[in-house]
Amino acid sequence: MSKRNLTLQQQRRISEKRLREAIDPAEQLPADEQLGVEQIGAVYARYGQQADIIDPEQPTAPPKRCYLRANLGSPVAGDRVVWRDGTPYGVVTALMPRHSVLERPDHNNQPRPVAANIDLVCVVIAPEPEPHGNLIDRFLVAARLHDLEAILVVNKTDLDTPHSDELDSLIELYRKLGYEVYPVSAKTGTGIAALTARLHGNYGILAGQSGVGKSSLINHLFPDIDARVGELSTQRRKGKHTTTASHLYLLPEGGGVIDSPGIREFGLGHLPSNNLIEGFVELRPLLGQCQFRDCSHTQEPRCAIIAALERGEVDPRRLASLRHMEQTVFTR
Ligand code: GDP
Ligand code: ZN
Repeated sequence: MSKRNLTLQQQRRISEKRLREAIDPAEQLPADEQLGVEQIGAVYARYGQQADIIDPEQPTAPPKRCYLRANLGSPVAGDRVVWRDGTPYGVVTALMPRHSVLERPDHNNQPRPVAANIDLVCVVIAPEPEPHGNLIDRFLVAARLHDLEAILVVNKTDLDTPHSDELDSLIELYRKLGYEVYPVSAKTGTGIAALTARLHGNYGILAGQSGVGKSSLINHLFPDIDARVGELSTQRRKGKHTTTASHLYLLPEGGGVIDSPGIREFGLGHLPSNNLIEGFVELRPLLGQCQFRDCSHTQEPRCAIIAALERGEVDPRRLASLRHMEQTVFTR
């Protein structure tokens, strides 16, 4: 084992020891016979060795703080778990299989799950800050490669700024590609009902650059969140990660949003460089049609993608995004 690995392991042991010491001895795991029957719940938020569990069937009921039984894996917001009620805390006994998971690298550059069971990526853009096609494509491509649906949410429709024309042209581009577009304003409430209806039955995330209004939208979609956060704050005294934890917010009519600071602006996790094109809805059907199997789609003769570009069937902005992603996505 390399010296570096040993050091990492040592670091991990130290942090685990600290975590154990952080748990009050009076609050050790309750004995089995003191626990309620096994039930299914969803992870509202994870804090170190504890998690708040909610019942998706009862979106307005307060979360229950639970310890995590050892060797569970790493439950995160959105995960479905088996848990047993207890006093003062319950216990999570099993992690159910996920149908999707989003990860981001931790400080050792190892992928770490941050949100589970998402099925819809809501890419939020606005006239201010200036929208960038590159960034939008990065989210759209990542969504597709993760087998997630994606929609565009255009916030701040109450504003008229110098970037409005550019925004309109981007909206037209994505509508043509088949993406649903939801114009909203977190300020006036315009369009929020339509967005809420789209979220019913889905678990979405809001992604997009800082300042586009993701927090404002979350507050609009879940007006009772502030109250709930206040309600929980006493239980959370020991939660050290409250500012960075992902949270699952439920809609009364079913479905909800996972708000994950790690995902919002960062991206949707690792993307394999060899199939980026598969994430571009209009380029995917062209794969395999170039003359050369290892075509880089830059200058080769009889390249299906360059030909489609020349026929006006592929927007140059999308190809520019592809180039940009090829150069930047994998260089962590
Ligand atoms: P986030 O960084 O994406 O979470 O964005 P915030 O929700 O923090 O919003 C950034 C700024 O945009 C704040 O000053 C908000 O008040 C403002 N903002 C958010 N939504 C709207 C909107 O629909 N219209 C207008 N005019 N301003 C908004
Ligand atoms: Zn080609």
